[in-house]
Amino acid sequence: MRLITLVLGALLSTTSLAMTSTEYLPADADLDTAIPSPESQLGWEPGDWRIHHPALVQYMRTLAEKSDRVSIKVTGQTYEKRPLLQIIISSEENQSKLEALREAHLNGAQTGDLEAPLVVWLGYSVHGDEASGSNAAPIVAWYLAASQSDYVKELLKNTIIIIDPSLNPDGLDRFASWSNSNQSLIPVADRNGRIHNQDWPPGRTNHYLFDLNRDWLPLVHPESRARITEYHRWLPHVITDHHETWHDGYFFQPGAPTRQHPLTTKENLKMTRALATYHASSFDDAGVMYFTEDAYDDFYYGKGSTYPDINGSIGILFEQPRINGQLSDRASGQLSFTDAIQNQVLTSLSTLKGTFELSDEFKQYQSEFFKETQQRASKAGFAAWVIGDNNDPARALALLDIFERHQVEFHPLKDEITANGRAYTPGHAWVIPAKQRQFGLAQAMLETRTKFEDNAFYDVSAWSLPMAYNLPYARLTRLPATGGSSQPATSATPDSDAVAWVIDWRQLQAPGLLQELLEADARVRAATKPFSMGGSSFSEGSLVLLAGIQDEDKSDAVYNILQKAASEGIQIQSYNTQVTQSGPGFGTAHFKIVPRVKPLLLVGEGVRSYDAGEAWFELDQRLGVAPVMVEIARLGGVDLADYTHLILVDGKYSKIGKSLKKRITEWVKTGGVIIASHGAATWAESLCFKPEACDKKQDEKLVAKTETKPMPYADFEDQRAQRTIGGAIVSAQLDNTHPIAFGFDSEMPIFRRGTTLLQGSDNPFTTPVRYTKKPLVSGYIGAQRLAEISNQPAVIAERHDKGLVIRFANNPLFRGFWRGTERLWVNSIYFGPVVRTTELP
Ligand SMILES: [Zn+2]
Repeated sequence: MRLITLVLGALLSTTSLAMTSTEYLPADADLDTAIPSPESQLGWEPGDWRIHHPALVQYMRTLAEKSDRVSIKVTGQTYEKRPLLQIIISSEENQSKLEALREAHLNGAQTGDLEAPLVVWLGYSVHGDEASGSNAAPIVAWYLAASQSDYVKELLKNTIIIIDPSLNPDGLDRFASWSNSNQSLIPVADRNGRIHNQDWPPGRTNHYLFDLNRDWLPLVHPESRARITEYHRWLPHVITDHHETWHDGYFFQPGAPTRQHPLTTKENLKMTRALATYHASSFDDAGVMYFTEDAYDDFYYGKGSTYPDINGSIGILFEQPRINGQLSDRASGQLSFTDAIQNQVLTSLSTLKGTFELSDEFKQYQSEFFKETQQRASKAGFAAWVIGDNNDPARALALLDIFERHQVEFHPLKDEITANGRAYTPGHAWVIPAKQRQFGLAQAMLETRTKFEDNAFYDVSAWSLPMAYNLPYARLTRLPATGGSSQPATSATPDSDAVAWVIDWRQLQAPGLLQELLEADARVRAATKPFSMGGSSFSEGSLVLLAGIQDEDKSDAVYNILQKAASEGIQIQSYNTQVTQSGPGFGTAHFKIVPRVKPLLLVGEGVRSYDAGEAWFELDQRLGVAPVMVEIARLGGVDLADYTHLILVDGKYSKIGKSLKKRITEWVKTGGVIIASHGAATWAESLCFKPEACDKKQDEKLVAKTETKPMPYADFEDQRAQRTIGGAIVSAQLDNTHPIAFGFDSEMPIFRRGTTLLQGSDNPFTTPVRYTKKPLVSGYIGAQRLAEISNQPAVIAERHDKGLVIRFANNPLFRGFWRGTERLWVNSIYFGPVVRTTELP
């Protein structure tokens, strides 16, 4: 047995492409052997395997223990409870006064003090399956901890280097498990091999399958929240973001200059270019193919290389050609995992060298940035923004919490004002002054924009946060008086002897409370008409609990839930009668019992993992509904009668065969609710509820072929950009008498991405949401794409016998921060079952 192990071990080392850590590093590194190398701790050489997060953590902890240049801090935890690490490397002397140096640096960022330390932040593998970054991090850290060269000593004397070795630990580990468990003794370069094709879901994303490299602005997740706190604590001069890409060459920023966000300055581009010469020279020496100023943009501020640009740092995106397994066939030759790690080490070191050699310029840039921001603020032509809570203080406070995390200053409004025809009242509105240090970021979070130098977008072209939260806001030419408390009004304890308790459905926390009540077997009735009572007016959807109809043995539990919810800030009104001041009384048929829900979410191969993750997150984290996730391939074996809802997010559902489709339609007819968004909405249109009508529809699809107008070959990219909707904000009108739109105003911003159009309904009562006539609010949508949605349906909810099919043209849960449209989806869950038949005689 022992002999076999030895033989295999020998074979592995001969076929392995790995190198010792020393081989990855400059020849003059002069490494102190007392500082343990990565391989001495891992038991294998970098490049042999994909590193698991615990091993990465263990190595960094060992470095911190063995080296006086290294300190380590846990900044937070992922959903799967992995620690988020911050490794700080600087000279031994600096380590003893880090806090003072940090303060000197922050001060220097404002005053331009060139004596303050230089701060560089190296960030690796926010996409967990782009693992070369995190596998390079231990080598870079070891080099900085162990090198006795004069250069490194001088560098560390003047620089504080912050290393985030894994920005997405849960994804890194998911991928490492996949990759290592599929790795053979002999490297497989053939990209048909399993190791090159990850299973669903990929390790790119975090636990809930969110792309953390889009979350720097919305801050939905703990990884981003922990990181943004540290980012502002340190405000690095330069911050790197190491990825992998489908391109054959290694990319480093600047991106395409015409695709830089207009709020990012020309000086930023200049400094990025200055640094690029260091990467270029390093790669020229090493014979690595690379490119720059092409293909990538620098537009959406929610990305790790772009967010720093609007905050006073220089963010640098690095994209190493993608490598799965140890070896990979690529058009420009075979690529090995060690090559990939080597390249990430090289750009980490060229970043340090460039920033260090140009440190005065980077320090000046930062202080100039803040001066310029002040100047822009005073020339902005407005004095402040005001944001209202739209009857939902919790939603406004959730947004203000994001502002606070981004260090954007705001104050409670003191006296009532009117802006754009809308009143903003104290206690329900906040003022964000233009004159503040974070004016640039505030502008980036609040502005709308519809004109662009270049129409091609790598990601979304609009993200205005108050719109995503569906909160009213306006620009003000004069700064209004501010003062008072930002805390929400406390809510009164519900009266235990009340006849009825009423919960305004517009509150952010209302659905979570409803779910808790349903789980406790409470009988909850939802208003289908507005009503008023005791001086308060309630919209459709408001929840009424009549004490008299609760089961006796459940009523204490129900009351306790209400009491607890009120103590957490939810407004719950208590009344001693069922008679309303206006609108129907509580005992009428205009209040419908909300049934318990048990949704089934389809996941797995074919389903877009981001969208599935967003639905999972919504059910699990925000509603408290146990999400039953079923792979498409297993759906055939599931008894649908056990579920109330079938949730289909964007994806390909062609694997659902004819007979299963028939079972799904039968299930709908007995009361099932389908919630289908984006591509799934189109799939839902193929469900056949009336065989005679379906055959007819098929015939209509055979349209005459149109003649093709010739276009220049070179125009392809531009034409494609005009037909692509990367993500823009459009306005929609709502029929808020429809249960799916309960609790909304008559108009709201929605997010449009992709080009899904809904097949219209013959029934005039089935369209709760429709694009307005001129829908574009912010971002880019080509003229033709815009014309085709004008006045068209955005959400359709059609009854079929006892059930309902709800089609969303867009994903209402986009990236977890569209808290306005999120409610349309939530309404579909709870109020879908109460949508009634609307067949005219
Ligand atoms: Zn990436």
